Amino acid sequence: MIISKELNQLKELLATGEKLTAMLAPSFPIDFSYPEIVGKLKRLGFSHVVEVARGAVDTNKQVVDYLKNNPEKRVITSPCFSCTGYIKSKRPDLIPYLSTADSPMKATAKIVEEKFPGTKAVFIGPCLTKRLEAGSYSQPEILVITFQELGELFKLWKIKESTEDLTARFDLLEEKTRLYPISGGLCQSAGVHEILAEDQFQMVSGLANLEKALDEFAKNKNIRLLDILFCDGGCINGPGIVSSANVEERRHKIIKFWSTHL
Ligand code: SF4
Repeated sequence: MIISKELNQLKELLATGEKLTAMLAPSFPIDFSYPEIVGKLKRLGFSHVVEVARGAVDTNKQVVDYLKNNPEKRVITSPCFSCTGYIKSKRPDLIPYLSTADSPMKATAKIVEEKFPGTKAVFIGPCLTKRLEAGSYSQPEILVITFQELGELFKLWKIKESTEDLTARFDLLEEKTRLYPISGGLCQSAGVHEILAEDQFQMVSGLANLEKALDEFAKNKNIRLLDILFCDGGCINGPGIVSSANVEERRHKIIKFWSTHL
């Protein structure tokens, strides 16, 4: 395994006893069990463990408020940095439509700053381009590692599951945005259907679908919201996931976690 600069940074921070908050992306149930993952992260050295689904609530609110307050405007949601990068390089005509809402990662880091001051935010997720996103702003500061790298870290530090982890709980949690990593998760969890008619919003994932959807958005002025994710099926198919399960099995794991821990 190639050790990334970010993983080395995290190892150093853990070794020096820095206070750290782990922000777990909502696709984590594909690779890890709850509550064991929280206990393992705490034993690894994290002082707090929170769900990025918590920040997704703020992302949703920003998108919905924008649509409500600007009835003449149309928007392309941007929690996926690969999608925004694609639009910026391939479809500059659509840049004016990019949402300025915080991504769930950024929104969660802002909450962490407020709730757990003095701790460093570490995003743990399925996505490599989140590193580019974190590097695109100076505040809040976020260190990004993948689920795969976290698994390696557990092996290196010999952190195995233990019965003591069964009582562990998130320090901040959110149930209603746990479907976010599935294609269309933003629209579904934000209740977009309550403010827009069916033909006014679209949800797509995967590069081939993305290209078609962007063409349609450019032509069809009736579409007010385009909810896009770059990986086919959504973040459940991100490159930092270890599981060999297929997209359908991954989707079931996310739905099961969402419906089990209500
Ligand atoms: S869809 Fe893929 S590239 Fe986009 S945020 Fe999710 S994991 Fe990252």
